[in-house]
Amino acid sequence: MQLIDQFDRKVDYIRVSVTDRCDFRCVYCMSEKMSFLSKSTVLSLEEIERVIRVFSELGVKKVRLTGGEPLVRKGVDKLFGAIGQIKGLDEITLTTNGSQLKKKAKMLRDSGVQRINISLDSLNPSTFKKLTRIGDLDKVLDGIHTAIDIGFKKIKLNTVLMKQINEEELYDLVDYAIKYYLDISFIEEMPLGQTDHDRQVTSVSNNDILFKLKERYSLSKTAITTSGPAKYFNIKNTQTKIGLISPHSHNFCENCNRVRITCKGELYLCLGHDTKIELMPLIRSFPKNDAPLKEAILNSMSIKPKSHNFSLDDKQPSVIRFMSHTGG
Ligand code: SAM
Ligand code: SF4
Repeated sequence: MQLIDQFDRKVDYIRVSVTDRCDFRCVYCMSEKMSFLSKSTVLSLEEIERVIRVFSELGVKKVRLTGGEPLVRKGVDKLFGAIGQIKGLDEITLTTNGSQLKKKAKMLRDSGVQRINISLDSLNPSTFKKLTRIGDLDKVLDGIHTAIDIGFKKIKLNTVLMKQINEEELYDLVDYAIKYYLDISFIEEMPLGQTDHDRQVTSVSNNDILFKLKERYSLSKTAITTSGPAKYFNIKNTQTKIGLISPHSHNFCENCNRVRITCKGELYLCLGHDTKIELMPLIRSFPKNDAPLKEAILNSMSIKPKSHNFSLDDKQPSVIRFMSHTGG
């Protein structure tokens, strides 16, 4: 069985947010005072495992666990272990802020996680603190190096550059990635959720980033495609690839292969739209019967939007929910 949407796009990739909670409060992702969901309103770990298994039975091959910060959820080790046993999944990946990686890297590798994306916006402790509000850079760097030492290949850093905050660290971050044989992607700030700053002022365009990168590095475009918003470049004489994730500058929706499931069991068909269906009632009303859940997921393909349309021109965010809600 396969998930094919109304525009004939095959959906074989899910991103699952295992919690909306986080031990950081990145300024582009959360407001200073966040309220989080209560335990009874979020999927249990067993329910998350079930949803992932059901999607795998519908042809999904790749799952990325994200959040919030996935590694702060209590019992997450068990979840990774269980997902590692699901037949039919070719790839289990994780997006993390790195704060818990020192403790968790071995567990992740043993559970079969193949790839890790680690967010790193600054190598300067005080800028890092300003961006994350409460994060500790040393802990994250320790986590990154534990993951490297444990043998994770293809570690990718994710960076959001913001004007007047960390924009000037572009070369430092790329040089760090080159030094440790990592890849690095720059994500344009997206208008998700109401933040305390004006995104029209802070947003750095990937066109500008590319221009600066070319001034210093010799880049060649790669043929790599993830069916997502990223373009990849090799840096000559290094093992580092640079990704530019540009939801504003380029339209990448025609090849979209993914949907997102939040920790509340909402199935979002597009990051930039509110179109969703609620899986929680089906999960809880039919604890032993997957058929209604499968049917709802199959039917959801008829409402997957053709494309998103992010705009920084409006004063209101394009989508009210934060990235930490939907899962990045
Ligand atoms: N806590 C984990 C982390 O930070 O990697 C996983 C969840 S986080 C929501 C996933 C990614 O979304 C991070 O790389 C973060 O930089 C990015 N992100 C969050 N809010 C964003 C926004 N408004 N625009 C662009 N990227 C954003
Ligand atoms: Fe937490 Fe990740 Fe959002 Fe930062 S980007 S606040 S680490 S969920």
